[in-house]
Amino acid sequence: MNIGVLALQGDVQEHIQSLSDCGVTALPVKTAEELQSIDALVIPGGESTTIAKLARSFGLMDLIKDRIKAGMPTYGSCAGMILVANKLEDAAVGQETFGGIDMTVRRNAFGRQVDSFETDLKFKGITEPSIRAVFIRAPWVESVGKDVEILAQISDEQGKSHPVAVRQGRVLATSFHPELTGDNRIHKYFVEEICSELVKG
Ligand code: GLN
Repeated sequence: MNIGVLALQGDVQEHIQSLSDCGVTALPVKTAEELQSIDALVIPGGESTTIAKLARSFGLMDLIKDRIKAGMPTYGSCAGMILVANKLEDAAVGQETFGGIDMTVRRNAFGRQVDSFETDLKFKGITEPSIRAVFIRAPWVESVGKDVEILAQISDEQGKSHPVAVRQGRVLATSFHPELTGDNRIHKYFVEEICSELVKG
């Protein structure tokens, strides 16, 4: 099984490292040909508007949309979460997404004053210790459709909960950056719980 990391912009190397540490082959993906050669895709953190524009100009936008629709296991972190959302709040004008999860994601949801922070989160399906989650100008999930499973949530200053990790079928998304902490359990979850479904058939 080959897992690709979309390598248009963002923290590509960190995801390749985390996946390699899980014992899978991870390759950067920049072209249609490279996209064809992979079984699963990770969309890294970075800037979602830039990644979307580059995907469009590299001829990858529709190909990735189609692969996700056809059931390719996909994991988006931070900007990657934005890119697998079917709908956005606070999007840039004309901002496109690949889609894949029936959810509305709010960009830069934690407010401008909260540029980045870290916290410990409980993640459904991953046992103790909790996950150290790094948020950098992160989105959160505003609402989800009925087929979306919420895996982790965070409370805002008013005590309202917002999903920050979700899954619908073979598509996983987190608001935070597990590739930056050296803890590979989220990547392992993606590989073992989602990608291995392909091997099992
Ligand atoms: N705010 C960024 C965006 O809208 C995401 C930030 C990140 O990936 N760290 O794309």
